[in-house]
Amino acid sequence: MPETDLFGNPLAPPESSHSGVFADVAIERGFDASPTGLTYRVPADLDLRIGHRVVVPLGRGNKTTTGYVIRLKIDTDLDARKLKPIASIAPGAIELPEPLVELARWVASYYVCPLGMVFGAMLPAAVTRGTGATRRQVARLKPDAEAGSVKLSKLQQAVLDAAKLQPGWTELKHLADLAGAKSTSPVQQLIDKGLLETKHEEVVVSNLDLRAQQLAEPATRLTLGPGQQEALDRLIAAAGSFGVHLLHGVTGSGKTEVYLRLIEAMGVGSIRQAATGSLDHSANSPTPGIIVLVPEIALTPQTVGRFLGRFGLDSVAVLHSGLTAAQRHAQWRRIEQGKVRIVVGARSAVFAPLSNLKLIIVDEEHDNSYKQDQLPRYHARDVAIKRAHMAGIPVVLGSATPSLESYANALGIRGSGIGNREGNGPNEATRSENRQATGDSRLPTNTYLHLPDRVPGMRLPEIEIVDLVEERKARRGIHLLTRRLEQRLTQVLDDKSQAMLLLNRRGYANYIACPDHKCGWMLTCPHCDATMVYHKDKRLPLGGLVRCHHCSAEAVLPATCPDSGHKVSVFGLGTQKVEAELEQKFPGARIARMDSDTMRRAEDYQRTLDQFRTGELDILLGTQMIAKGLDFPGVRLVGVISADTSLNLPDFRARERTFQLIAQVAGRSGRSDQIGRVVLQSFNPEDPAVVKAAAHDYAGFASEEIETRVQMGLPPAGRLVRIVCRDKDHVTVTKRARELAAALAAANAALNLNVRLRGPHPCPIARVADHHRLEITLTADSPGPIQKLMTQLRNHGQLISDQHTAVDVDPVSLL
Ligand code: ADP
Ligand code: ZN
Repeated sequence: MPETDLFGNPLAPPESSHSGVFADVAIERGFDASPTGLTYRVPADLDLRIGHRVVVPLGRGNKTTTGYVIRLKIDTDLDARKLKPIASIAPGAIELPEPLVELARWVASYYVCPLGMVFGAMLPAAVTRGTGATRRQVARLKPDAEAGSVKLSKLQQAVLDAAKLQPGWTELKHLADLAGAKSTSPVQQLIDKGLLETKHEEVVVSNLDLRAQQLAEPATRLTLGPGQQEALDRLIAAAGSFGVHLLHGVTGSGKTEVYLRLIEAMGVGSIRQAATGSLDHSANSPTPGIIVLVPEIALTPQTVGRFLGRFGLDSVAVLHSGLTAAQRHAQWRRIEQGKVRIVVGARSAVFAPLSNLKLIIVDEEHDNSYKQDQLPRYHARDVAIKRAHMAGIPVVLGSATPSLESYANALGIRGSGIGNREGNGPNEATRSENRQATGDSRLPTNTYLHLPDRVPGMRLPEIEIVDLVEERKARRGIHLLTRRLEQRLTQVLDDKSQAMLLLNRRGYANYIACPDHKCGWMLTCPHCDATMVYHKDKRLPLGGLVRCHHCSAEAVLPATCPDSGHKVSVFGLGTQKVEAELEQKFPGARIARMDSDTMRRAEDYQRTLDQFRTGELDILLGTQMIAKGLDFPGVRLVGVISADTSLNLPDFRARERTFQLIAQVAGRSGRSDQIGRVVLQSFNPEDPAVVKAAAHDYAGFASEEIETRVQMGLPPAGRLVRIVCRDKDHVTVTKRARELAAALAAANAALNLNVRLRGPHPCPIARVADHHRLEITLTADSPGPIQKLMTQLRNHGQLISDQHTAVDVDPVSLL
């Protein structure tokens, strides 16, 4: 597949470094005006490479700005005398590895984003700003120094001896300390005598201490179960070439242990192995680099802790949104300088500047937090696949509930367009069978690795469904906890074990309405087409407020209906209401609520989880925040307060989401030798998502759901792009959306692409923060035609990603 630039022209193979006289530069904050970059002259004394961040003059006034060198060349069609010279390499000497420059081009093209903004997303702002960087003087023994002939004082000799023991450059102050000197003068004297050499080096100081997260390794090495061993063997065999390997293992099947062993097998030894000298990989082959993506990291401290525990603080860099700017910069530099071999991080870690990349692991690959909801709107899993493809290395996707995209791809399920995808999408790999059949080793391979059982000694929980319709008939009053759930909770509290309760909605109640049905008034946000949610807050004079979950507008709770004067009624459900009911029904229980209202910072989250782990809490109640990845052996009961909150969303993936959420949260129960239970409450007890999740039947659910998607021509049976036009003025946005739809239709016909176009019509939430929103959707059996169509419009300036137009390729949210 030839790489193309944004205009669909084939890219020239990358020119070798150092040879350029001219450079194409992508302007950092640039918009789409020059997608292939602006051409500059390279001053003769500038040692420039592709990926360098540079300072360049821009526009008539020659205002300086920053950009990235994306190409070096010896010729240009432009009038060379008129080209401006590059001013300098930008402070901080940032140089992106060439493969990342290539990846950025693909992201810019595939996700319809200006290239400069992709670089902006690749590099943390802390790095480009140089946050926390200082210069310090370092010294080391001069290799050819002849110490014998020089007379030295005692202190000088001590410094020299200390320097001999240091493997590399050492800070002057540190050398002095090692020698017991009170000042750095003896070090300075040795430099003057020519026995030590010195230089200034930029370091980033940060106070990130990961020790607290590092989990202790078990005293004895686990014996892998047969499923784990087979998956590991196949993954080891797949090393060294591109392939997408789906590790589908039920919750508690030991997927993480498989990742850890795979990394060890790739030559990144565990501390223990290294100490006993059983591994030898240091000598000539450079150590492999490995990226491990996990959903937003504050949410998975346990996973990070296991990587730190296994491979040690010195080998692992951690990147997530909870870091301070200086910490993030320091971590990035450690990676760039090759000081770490493993990067564990959230979405943007897919762009980590690791060299010698050998493997990418995407844990919980189905997780929506991998999709960025602002420019560039990339999906980190798919970028990982593309990066692996470009590097010719394997990527492992792990999940207990794989996205249907990854599942269909791994199994090579052929509906309209599934499995056999041509075009320039991230995931166009074909199956392993093809490769074996044709004997063509260059063909990429997709494999499906299944771990259907939990690790030895651990069973899947028993799930019981409670029909809320029946419950309502049989019991008076409003109860969020059904009789069955109450009974199970009582047992858990009696047994001194623990429970987790999930409700995927925060606040107290999400409807504030007039009790008179004839009136029909309901409190909606003045800025959005959405209802406002009541949040109790004891600190406020009125005991609470109403808030919009889309634009965060707040107001006081109205006492009466503005139309009829009746006292308003507050109904619907939220985590706060469950908390109140728990407190009332189980007065002795120790309860914590975990949602984004109570967990403002990563520390809050960490602290509450620690309390739960050590048994200081009996019941942990929360939103999907508690559904992911947590491993607490004391949990014997999981309650799903309402399976319907996600089921009723106007999104074709509502059912898939619901299945995932139930399966994931259910997976928190019974992670010990004791059987776990799950109580699943729903008004839709017959819905396939509910029934199949209760039966632990992923395959059954997936095949039915894929069938439906095939009929509708929706992913994974085809590709989807959603373009949302937004404006405060309804007339303006309607006009713009219609023009865009017409341009799309014309190009579609002219190029004979057969992309299915729909819209413009109002988005499910037609107004957010005073902006009217109209959507146009593009679907096709494969990504190729859609990409061609968008490129065509982009070339003609008819499709520009900006604050009025959001192009969402492979969207995960459709509200
Ligand atoms: P998953 O990621 O699939 O949910 P984990 O990797 O977290 O599963 O494993 C669940 C628990 O089982 C962990 O505490 C882990 O240490 C343990 N475990 C993993 N593999 C084995 C094994 N082969 N034998 C016994 N325990 C294991
Ligand atoms: Zn609002």
